[in-house]
Amino acid sequence: MHYIRRTIGTVLAIIIISLFIYYNFLRRRWDFIIIHHSATTFGNVSVFYNGHKARGGAWLGNDPMLYHLVIGNGQKAGDGELQAGGRWLKQQLGGGCSSVKKLMQARTIRDFFRSWSDYYNFKGIHICLVGDLNKTAPSSRQIDTLTNVVEALCRKYRIPPWHIMGHQEAQISSTACPGKRFPLVKLKNEIALRLPQPAKLNPTGLFNWKIRLINFCPLLGLFFGEFYYSGLLLIINAGLAYLFIRIALPLARASLPAKLDEEIEKVVAQAFHDKDENKPVDMPGNFEEKDLQC
Ligand SMILES: [Zn+2]
Repeated sequence: MHYIRRTIGTVLAIIIISLFIYYNFLRRRWDFIIIHHSATTFGNVSVFYNGHKARGGAWLGNDPMLYHLVIGNGQKAGDGELQAGGRWLKQQLGGGCSSVKKLMQARTIRDFFRSWSDYYNFKGIHICLVGDLNKTAPSSRQIDTLTNVVEALCRKYRIPPWHIMGHQEAQISSTACPGKRFPLVKLKNEIALRLPQPAKLNPTGLFNWKIRLINFCPLLGLFFGEFYYSGLLLIINAGLAYLFIRIALPLARASLPAKLDEEIEKVVAQAFHDKDENKPVDMPGNFEEKDLQC
C-alpha cells in the first residue's frame, strides 16, 4: 500500500515539475513585440551577431544576437530586408531588454513588471530596425516590412496591439531605443486597425480567463507560464495572511469579553461532570450478581 502511494506521489511530482518547466522555460508563449533600433548606420544579422557576442550575448547557450529579427536599411542588408536571427530560428528567449535593474524605482505595478525586464525578454519577440532612429527616420520600406511582420506575428500568436512596445516601454532604466524618429504610435494604430477588434477593450491584458483562474489560485500561474504575476500574488497573499495572523486575530481575541475563557472552562467542566454522573464507566470486574443470572 505504501509502495503504491509512494509511486503515485512520485509520478504526480514528476508531472507537476515537468509542466512547470515546460510552461515557464521551454514553451515560448510570445505575448509582446518589442521594437528596437540598432543605433548604427549599417547592420545585418552577422554584424550584430559578432557585436553582441563580444558583449556576452551567448550566455546560457543562447544565440549571441539578442534580437529575433532584423530589418535592414540598405547598408549591409537590403532596404526593408527581413532577416531572422538564431534566437528566432531556435525559438530562444530574446535579450533586447537589460535585466533586473532599478527595481527600487518602481512606483506602479506596470513599473514593477518593467523592472523585471526579463519578463519582456522571455515573452517578447524582439525586432530591430537598422539605423540610428534618433537622427534619421526609418525608410518607408523598413516601415512596410515591419508593419507586415508585426501584423503577421500578432495574428499568429494572438498578440493584442497594446502589447506592441518600444524598447523604452519595456524597461525602467532609461533608453532612447527605438529612437525619437521611430513612429511608434502610428505603428500601434496601424496594427490595431488591421487586426480584428477585440470583443472587449482590455488595455492591460491582465484580466483574461487565465488570469482569473490565477487570481483564484495563484499556484496555477506556475503552470500557465504567468510566473511573475503569480509570484506577485503569492507574495501579496502571504503578506495578508501574516497581517491576519499577527494583527487581526489578536485584535479579535482582545475584543472578546475578558471572562469568556473562564465561562467556557466552567461549561466544559460541567459537561464532563454531568457525563460522569449519568454514565458511570463500566469497569471490568465491577458487575453485580444479577448480571450473572441470565
Ligand atoms: Zn533596444
